[in-house]
Amino acid sequence: MQYIAKSAASNELHSVNTTCAYCGVGCGIQATVNVERREVLVQGDDSHPSSQGRLCSKGASLGDTLSLQSRLLYPQVNGQRVSWDEAIDTLGSRFQKIIQQHGPDAVAFYGSGQLLTEDYYVANKLMKGFIGSANIDTNSRLCMSSAVAGHKRAFGSDTVPTCYDDIDHANLIVLVGSNTAWCHPIIFQRIRAAKERNPDMKVVVIDPRETATCDIADLHLALRSTTDVALFNGLLVHLAQGDALDQEFIGDRTIGFFDALEAAKRDMPDIAAVSACTELDHEKVKQFYQWFLNEPRSLTLYSQGVKQSSSGVDKVNAILNCHLATGRIGKPGMGPLSLTGQPNAMGGREVGGLANQLAAHMEITDDTHRDRVARFWQTSSLADKPGLAAVDLFEAIAAGRIKAIWIMATNPVVSMPDADRVKEALKKCELVVVSDCVANTDTLDLADIKLPAQGWSEKDGMVTNSERYISHQRALLPPAGEAKPDWWIISRVAQRMGYGHAFDYQHQVEIFREHAALSGFENNSGFGERDFDISGLAEISLADYQAFKPTQWPINKTYPAGRKRMFEDQLFYTTDRKARFIALSYQKPKNVTDAQYPLVLNTGRLRDQWHTMTRSALAPRLNQHRPEPFVEVHPEDAVVHGLEDGEIAHLRSAWGQMYARINVRDTQRKGDVFVPMHWSEQYAKKGRMGALVNPVVDALSGQPESKHTPVAIRPFHAAWHGFLMTRVSVEDLALAYQVKVVAEDYYRYELAAIKTPRDWLTWLKDKLHGQLKDDMEWQQYHDAGAGVFRVAVYQHARLMLVFCASSTASEPMLPSRNWLGSLFMRPEITAFERRSVLAGMASGSQEDQGVTVCACYGVGEKAICRLIEEQSLSCYQQVGASCKAGTNCGSCIPEIKSLISQVRKKETAD
Ligand code: SF4
Repeated sequence: MQYIAKSAASNELHSVNTTCAYCGVGCGIQATVNVERREVLVQGDDSHPSSQGRLCSKGASLGDTLSLQSRLLYPQVNGQRVSWDEAIDTLGSRFQKIIQQHGPDAVAFYGSGQLLTEDYYVANKLMKGFIGSANIDTNSRLCMSSAVAGHKRAFGSDTVPTCYDDIDHANLIVLVGSNTAWCHPIIFQRIRAAKERNPDMKVVVIDPRETATCDIADLHLALRSTTDVALFNGLLVHLAQGDALDQEFIGDRTIGFFDALEAAKRDMPDIAAVSACTELDHEKVKQFYQWFLNEPRSLTLYSQGVKQSSSGVDKVNAILNCHLATGRIGKPGMGPLSLTGQPNAMGGREVGGLANQLAAHMEITDDTHRDRVARFWQTSSLADKPGLAAVDLFEAIAAGRIKAIWIMATNPVVSMPDADRVKEALKKCELVVVSDCVANTDTLDLADIKLPAQGWSEKDGMVTNSERYISHQRALLPPAGEAKPDWWIISRVAQRMGYGHAFDYQHQVEIFREHAALSGFENNSGFGERDFDISGLAEISLADYQAFKPTQWPINKTYPAGRKRMFEDQLFYTTDRKARFIALSYQKPKNVTDAQYPLVLNTGRLRDQWHTMTRSALAPRLNQHRPEPFVEVHPEDAVVHGLEDGEIAHLRSAWGQMYARINVRDTQRKGDVFVPMHWSEQYAKKGRMGALVNPVVDALSGQPESKHTPVAIRPFHAAWHGFLMTRVSVEDLALAYQVKVVAEDYYRYELAAIKTPRDWLTWLKDKLHGQLKDDMEWQQYHDAGAGVFRVAVYQHARLMLVFCASSTASEPMLPSRNWLGSLFMRPEITAFERRSVLAGMASGSQEDQGVTVCACYGVGEKAICRLIEEQSLSCYQQVGASCKAGTNCGSCIPEIKSLISQVRKKETAD
């Protein structure tokens, strides 16, 4: 499948291999570029080993996100456009003044897994090496710091042992706390394909929710939230009782097994104890344990359900304990694999992007490491203690201890826990600097200094994915406006602050060479102290850098072409080269439900959105699958709390509140509710889930507990529900519920309010502030008795605006948005169709597609159901053959299968 903007001329195109900007799978992209028209055709890169030509709906839509309209184009200070010199001068001098008055710990950087490795390296070098504080943390703290801490405890280093190829060699794949189908779709496709090739393969999904990932599960364990340590402690005990231990490996290559096993036995002596703690069916637990016991080729993939927890590090080590106990590590088809969230979360780990790390996998608390890095950087100002991790860092801003913060490529006002407090902290902060590629985010709204950074398609440098592949993300287009690379901005500020000698970079390759050289500095290649060693690239030429092909680190004298799998030699990075078991016991979360907050809030990602939607929401096709923030509720909880499917709920925790559309689903665990993480103030006025989330963190990793917040829920009793579709974006309509959806030819606003206007038309015109012209033709329908009001506005027979309101939220009182949306693509609307619009019913020739299921080919739910019925389709392959749905990235296959089963059930019932 190829995507290209409508008017690209093929004779002006050239091809570039690059890397996806979104998740840690790190898929390769073959981009066909029309520079003059700023158009990019995106397709999978067959030569990239991690993705082998595949892209999911997000990656495949990157070409739709490159418009200049949304971009921050020039530097601004206090809302005024300034030159780069002035912006850098203001930033540098104000940082210096605060440091002189209050010391280096009064300033901070907050970075992102969206930064390229070179950007990340320079930011870390400036703060830790020359400003002399370690107050540099990153949004990767929110997504993978528990994996880092767990790896270090077990292996002595932050080493990912496995690789994606192991999926093809495994016979048992255990997915823990991971909706892989939606959050890492190309890994999921790979597992699905491996399972289809290998009928003996079993897939176990461990997740409180029944997600799309369960589509390929042989067993789903819907455990009680946070009880993963209990489940894996029980597994360790079961492995010991079942004689499945690798005694030789344990004896020769590990330390601490006896203590870990004894602790596990005390915690979970048998399956009955596990079943009681996790609330899982005894037989299901036993089945999982037996499969794991009997299958040496066991691969455990885990993600945010494990890591975003106050016991996240223990959960990671509980998994690692089971792999170490069976010697299932460092061999094909077995081992643990942490799936990282962002495209360069791993690169951030390499350069020491977290506040408790030094560069190149060295430790800030280790005197030898500090001395080594200080000599390499030729500095006498190296930070001598860890800085503040994300939650503490924003708390220090709130308390006034940190007086200046520079936020790079991230949106903490949306993504941080207790996000309202983060917002208030930034409002009070003396100096807030934000560098970003987009013009409007909830965080940029609070910035004193705004710096335009280059975005994907413009910036150029390296990223590392979940399986240690370093890939080149290449520039495709010239920078938007005055946008600059992040490394350039940071280096110029460093020069302004007087550190010019250490930041005199002219090209990113110079930074990459330095980063590679530091990784090998006093590190005995191949049998070194540190796992991360890419010294083989320390003298890479510019030509080789530009032509660099994806390679897995380490890259050094021993592994000049990279290393697929770590620990094949059973040598770990502890002082005695042995791995460590960790003695663990299940710990309850700090905040538990009570009468005031009786439900557990779980949060996560959706299939077609990325983080705080700053980029993915620019691609209309990605906004149609789940257009509004929603809350999934179990049917019994819905009854208890008076919630109706499709209505709006108000959620409240001890930290904040939000509104969301109610989805009643029996796939949700009773007692839990789920809310997606994505919506910001820019798209949903009161839809920021971060406002609700408790700021409790794991004591070892500092990673927040984003999957477990006690909340209360109640229906929002709106006097009316409705939607506005218009070709022009409108400002805040000042309604209780307001969500903006960017579509291909129009904007859609989902609305609800507690008061019905006395005169609808006057109210609507007032809200639109006269944006519609006098020569436009207004048509309206009002049934006061039924509480229905509809308006359509035309200009020369072209539909300009539709507004529909009703006292209830559902069809038919509110007509199909997808059908009305299709009319915006038409140059003219006939008189017959105009009557249909006011009647709120599709006319015969205009079939309603329904909510988008396949984002790649824009196929809707109703269209798929019609095909299943009319053509008696019985499998997703037949649906694909009939309408193409599911035949590109495959992310929608679980939903297509679910629709087939719904239609079949309905036919049987009829
Ligand atoms: Fe990008 Fe999707 Fe691949 Fe992730 S799985 S890297 S979002 S194409």
